[in-house]
Amino acid sequence: RAKELGRNGFQFFTEALQLRAQQQLELGASLRLALERDEFELHYQPQVSLRSGRVVGVEALLRWRHPERGLLGPGHFISFAEESGLIIPIGEWVLRRACMQNKAWQDAGLPAIPVAVNISARQCAHHGLEAVVRSALDSSGLDPHCLELELTESISMADPEHSVPMMERMKAIGVELSIDDFGTGYSNMSYLKRFPIDRLKLDISFVREITTDPGSLAISDAIITMSHSLHLEVVAEGVETEGQLSLLALRHCDIVQGYYFSKPLEAGALAALLREGRRLPDHLIGRLPDAP
Ligand code: C2E
Ligand code: MG
Ligand code: MG
Ligand code: MG
Repeated sequence: RAKELGRNGFQFFTEALQLRAQQQLELGASLRLALERDEFELHYQPQVSLRSGRVVGVEALLRWRHPERGLLGPGHFISFAEESGLIIPIGEWVLRRACMQNKAWQDAGLPAIPVAVNISARQCAHHGLEAVVRSALDSSGLDPHCLELELTESISMADPEHSVPMMERMKAIGVELSIDDFGTGYSNMSYLKRFPIDRLKLDISFVREITTDPGSLAISDAIITMSHSLHLEVVAEGVETEGQLSLLALRHCDIVQGYYFSKPLEAGALAALLREGRRLPDHLIGRLPDAP
């Protein structure tokens, strides 16, 4: 009887594995099709200056308009795309689309601000990244200063012998660089001074608790102070409340991004927001000194 149960357990286990393998195969096939059928979209979330209250950048965030399941966020497919290598062609699509869209906004008379694109570890290690960035800029005609690449802390710190030269090549092209989700990954800070980067994005996990947890506030403070000493700007991610925003302003954070100002928007809605000149109300800004 014990033997019987064991066999059933094993059978159940293999069935679960087979089901997972089957699902992965299907996801791979449908992601490939999604590219061909143009089912991916970029949504754009504004980043606002705590100095001027104005939108000073947007982050492009990938969405999959699935024919049956509706709009899917990256949580449903990005890690699979990374593991399977599909992030290479998908990431190339993202870079090209973000550059074209930003150029189209500028041609329509909207202010020239950078569009930030997330770059995964796999893309970073790929030798073709530089050529793709150049080609996305050339074919769109976008000024390189209007493209920003968001690298994660773990990619950049895990292998600085590779990542520093890569970042230097990107800076030579003229694009902006930021480190995403800062404070959660590798913590070998000594590399930070060697990185030719422009800004750090303070991770959402600190911002979420900044008004309630003294530890999160202390870490945020330390990251902001250190960033400014290194002449980097700080973008706080995931700012949802006026309380969080005011506290970040008081602590001299430069830029905020989050639902408080706006969720990620479709291209048309983002253009409308820029056209209206939407900004933060006066009582929330202007507490910062002039330069970071
Ligand atoms: P991320 O780069 O850290 O992007 C910020 C995430 O926080 C986005 O989730 C955004 O929608 C969400 N967010 C913004 N404001 C708030 C807020 O106030 N509260 C909360 N709770 N969340 C907020 P999203 O769009 O689901 O993207 C998740 C992650 O997927 C991104 O994290 C990024 O790592 C990855 N990703 C997104 N697009 C791309 C892409 O084109 N390529 C690659 N390689 N990764 C991408
Ligand atoms: Mg990001
Ligand atoms: Mg982030
Ligand atoms: Mg994050």
